[in-house]
Amino acid sequence: MPEYKAPLRDIKFVMTELLNSEQHYTNLEGAEDATPDMVDAIIQEGAKFCEQVVSPLNRVGDIEGCVWSEDGVKTPTGFKEAYQQYIEGGWPSMTADTNYGGQGLPSSLGIVMSEMMGTCNWSFGMYPGLSHGATNTIEEHGTEEQKQTYLTKLISGEWTGTMCLTESHCGSDLGTLRTKAEPNADGTYSITGTKIFISAGEHDMAENIVHIVLARLPGAPEGTKGISLFIVPKCLPNEDGSAGDRNAVSCGSIEHKMGIHGNATCVMNFDGAKGWLIGPENKGLNCMFTFMNVARIGTAIQGLGAAELGFQGSLTYAKDRLAMRSLSGAKNPDGIADPIIVHPDVRRMLLTQKAVAEGARALIYLTAQQADIVQRGKTAEERKAADEALGFLTPIAKAFLTEIGYEAANLGMQVYGGHGFIAEWGMEQNVRDARIGMIYEGTTGIQALDLLGRKVLMTQGESLKGFTKQVHVFCKENADNEQMKEFIEPLAAINKEWGDLTMKIGMTAMKDREEVGAAAVDYLMYSGYAVFAYLWARMAKVALDKMADGTSEEMFYNAKVQTARFYFKRLLPRTKTHAETMLAGSGSLLDMPEEAFAL
Ligand SMILES: Cc1cc2nc3c(=O)[nH]c(=O)nc-3n(C[C@H](O)[C@H](O)[C@H](O)COP(=O)(O)OP(=O)(O)OC[C@H]3O[C@@H](n4cnc5c(N)ncnc54)[C@H](O)[C@@H]3O)c2cc1C
Repeated sequence: MPEYKAPLRDIKFVMTELLNSEQHYTNLEGAEDATPDMVDAIIQEGAKFCEQVVSPLNRVGDIEGCVWSEDGVKTPTGFKEAYQQYIEGGWPSMTADTNYGGQGLPSSLGIVMSEMMGTCNWSFGMYPGLSHGATNTIEEHGTEEQKQTYLTKLISGEWTGTMCLTESHCGSDLGTLRTKAEPNADGTYSITGTKIFISAGEHDMAENIVHIVLARLPGAPEGTKGISLFIVPKCLPNEDGSAGDRNAVSCGSIEHKMGIHGNATCVMNFDGAKGWLIGPENKGLNCMFTFMNVARIGTAIQGLGAAELGFQGSLTYAKDRLAMRSLSGAKNPDGIADPIIVHPDVRRMLLTQKAVAEGARALIYLTAQQADIVQRGKTAEERKAADEALGFLTPIAKAFLTEIGYEAANLGMQVYGGHGFIAEWGMEQNVRDARIGMIYEGTTGIQALDLLGRKVLMTQGESLKGFTKQVHVFCKENADNEQMKEFIEPLAAINKEWGDLTMKIGMTAMKDREEVGAAAVDYLMYSGYAVFAYLWARMAKVALDKMADGTSEEMFYNAKVQTARFYFKRLLPRTKTHAETMLAGSGSLLDMPEEAFAL
């Protein structure tokens, strides 16, 4: 089992050297407490908590899983105690509203903690992650009374939250959901229906669980325009704010699943449970959209975590494991064989994992900074620009990172050879845990439609231009820099091609709507590699500048440049396939009649 070590040097590199977090926090409204010393202290403490308390429970969670009984769901050994320590450390309140007991720190700082916790134990990190989603929803759309009742408890961590959207017949297509909400005389609602796959739906870590539930009011319009949002607590709050009688909501069963065993994925039955409307009637989905971007960054972190954990495990193994000799002559002549890290193919796997993990960190932190600006930017103009950038980057971060994070996790298993397939090394758990990232919070296919359809084509390419303009400026600034030539030339070419491909798809889509669906996933993957190219070029620039100025960390910065070089030479060329495929048209997918798919 790999022992998780928080990658503090790289976290610092991305935050301060690449994204200038010090300046970023100074520019935000109400982020005075996020001083460099404070930020550093929080990350150090968070790393300690993750390494010492959360990481050791990763394997336990996988082996034991969650156990259902009529008295409730039991989480794996140690989860409850670790969660108590998480509360005592004040972690749930870090980025929450100060009016309800939060510490008011910027949400990008919370993302760093989510990265460390999610990497070392994704199943555990999901419990507070879901609470964060519920907190955001109530913060944004709840009444003052709802905030007083629920926010303080969620923010302290005493109560946890869930998001109840999916039903057995619908996950992507929420417009068809059937859960009913009947109004009661006292202004509350009776919620009836069954939700499935509800993460953290029932457990023994907190005294109460606040379910955020999508349901339909009587006579509501069909489809997505007739969905409303409700708070349905497991235990009804007493006058004094404590958890009171059980509400008519219960866990029917726990799903038996491929991975993330430590997180309880529950079937939740609502049998006339008492609920309270959040936001306006029939606007439930709009209310959810306001925090969905943040929730999706949360899932994107799973891709980063899978790559990082796979890399940490395989790096240690590749230095220890001896097998055959280097083709250019023995590198470990005193040993029975050379360590496998000398072999080019093992290097390919390690460098892919490293390029994915570090590139993912850069993309997630960049996206999180946009979320900070949306929440706390000083002018309406900068908030609007950040909102557009966030909308554009989010589907890319969510889908691209979970896809390539999964690939990197799989490579982790490959580096270990047969041992990778054996449970005790932790690599196969990492693969199993990572697989869900491409499915929940909107599948890759759904994210791709969001990117190409809603974000790019519906804005006539404006959102894409917002990004490619930045890339263009960067390329121009570095056009005469000889050392950057190997990065700038391909980056400039891809930046231009990205716009050209978008135009072509836009034109064909005007004649045939199916073209959008046919091109979407390749377009998304292409976009992911293009965004990575920009970020890797920028990281190379920072590293080259540091080395030119003289540094005691030559090896660290040199590795950055080498990894950037690997990315440009060996991963970016994948865009060629995606470019060709996205233009292949819908015919090769749709011409075959459905009946011809006969078994
Ligand atoms: C472990 C786990 C935890 C989960 N946690 C939660 C949770 O906490 N809360 C919650 O509400 N839900 C949760 N989910 C549910 C999850 O969000 C859904 O499973 C997911 O959104 C997909 O929905 P679906 O399963 O209905 O698949 P479907 O929507 O039936 O999709 C099936 C396939 O069809 C594709 N597809 C569907 N429509 C289109 C289209 N228009 N164009 C192209 N392709 C399309 C999809 O991409 C997918 O490949 C969880 C699921 C799992 C497995």
